[in-house]
Parts: sequence; C-alpha cells; structure tokens
Amino acid sequence: MNDLKLLTKIKKPLTIDNITFDNNNLVVIAGPCAIEDYDSLFQMATLLKENGIHFMRAGAYKPRTSPYSFQGLGEQGLKMLADIKEKTKIKMVTEITDISDLPLYLDYVDIIQVGARNMQNFSLLKALGKTNKPILLKRGFGNTIEEWLLAAEYILLGGNQNIIMCERGIKSFETSTRNTLDISSVPIIKQLTALPVIVDPSHAAGRSDLIASLSLAAVAAGANGLLIEVHPNPREALSDKEQALGTNEFLQLNNQLQGLKSYLNANNIHNNF
Ligand code: PEP
Ligand code: MN
Repeated sequence: MNDLKLLTKIKKPLTIDNITFDNNNLVVIAGPCAIEDYDSLFQMATLLKENGIHFMRAGAYKPRTSPYSFQGLGEQGLKMLADIKEKTKIKMVTEITDISDLPLYLDYVDIIQVGARNMQNFSLLKALGKTNKPILLKRGFGNTIEEWLLAAEYILLGGNQNIIMCERGIKSFETSTRNTLDISSVPIIKQLTALPVIVDPSHAAGRSDLIASLSLAAVAAGANGLLIEVHPNPREALSDKEQALGTNEFLQLNNQLQGLKSYLNANNIHNNF
C-alpha cells in the first residue's frame, strides 16, 4: 500500500482521558442510532455509566437514505449531549455531517464520528486534522481498506493523531445482511498501523439477531472495541430499529464480550501470527 507515511509511524496507543485503546482493554461504545428525546437519552447514559460503559453514541444529524425519514434533532440534540455528558460524565460520540457545524462539535462532544458516507469528504478530513479532537473514522461501504487508511492519513497530515478506525461493513452481493462485515480489515489494519480499530456490528448486519455473533468474532479477531446500537425500546426506535439491541440484551452481551477479552488475555491468545 502506498503513501501510508504517517500511519506507519504512530507508536503510542490512543488514550482518551484515562482510557487506553490497547490490548488490555475492550472499549465499548453504545447508544441509540439517533437522539430522540432528552429523558430517554439521560436514562440510557446513566444506565450505561453505571454498568462501566465509558462512551455513548447518539446521532444528532442523521444521514438518512430517504429525505422523508427522521433527520435527527440537529443542534438541539448536540446541546442535549453536552448537558448529559456534564451530568453523567459519560463521553459522547456523535456524527458530523457538515463541515460548517464543526465549532459546535468542538464545544459539545468528546469524539467526532465521520460516517461511512463522508469517509472521503476530504475538506472535512482536513478540517478535522487541524483539531485535536478524537475522530472515529468509519469505513465507507464502497471503499477499500487502502482508501480508508488514506482517509486517516489526511487527518494525520493536519497533525491530529487521535483517530479510531471503525469497520462497519461493505456492500456486497449478499442480501441477508444490510452490509457484509469485513472482519479481515481488523487484523490488516492492526498490521499496518498502531491506530485502534473497532467494529460496528449494527450497521454491518442491520439485524439485531446477529449482533452478538459478530461482536464476539470482532473481539476474537483483535478489535480494540465495538460500536453497538442500543435502544430502550427497539421496536419504537425512530431510526434503524431492526438492528438495535434492547438495554438488557446489550448489558448481557457486554458481559460476554468483556469475559471473552479477559479469557484471551489470560491465556495469551493474541493473533499476531
Ligand atoms: C451511524 O453510526 O449512525 C451511521 C450512520 O453509520 P454509518 O456511517 O456506518 O452508516
Ligand atoms: Mn444507525
């Protein structure tokens, strides 16, 4: 692969506050696809934090395929995130869809997500490179691993090394899942750079019944973490309801994932063959 100049030079694992994305940790980011209302978001944040989850996801600006679908609460949603993060101390991850909103994100959130549809929005990547905010960079569903790494290189070139790579599935001929989770990207990214790589099984599968299997596979493949959609009442979710886990299901899965990670570490099973 050409031009991975800065990616290959990173030596230290990413740390956000006191949480390090290294082999000792499995960083789980959970929450609803979209911010729907203040109270449910606050309750979810409190519950997650009580159960040892340090990062919450929730979209304020939603890139929806149909213009008639719920588009998110926008700036009002970002303000809710800021308020709830202050009260609960959970760290907030949310997607940016327009470069002109960047000042709001710098003020209101802990990690800025670049969604699959914006992975090659180069002016956005350059602007994010000039900040020091952690960036969660999703893989575009039509992009190769090399293109995804070069997108990270754009951010690095501006001076920002705080990047989390997120595999979220790619388009394929398969129709039984929303996308096809490319699990091989996890070890490939790990071979090429010290940036952390996490897996989003929710947008990969598009169906809640596969989330546990794909998450366990991601941990076994060496992922540093997971991004999982959770909703207090999935059937009523305003977006991506087919793929959301209920809160209890998620907490059970998180226990299993942490258990698997501990087992792998205790038995010195690391796939660095
Ligand atoms: C999301 O995480 O809410 C999202 C829209 O994901 P993606 O960009 O991977 O489709
Ligand atoms: Mn979603």
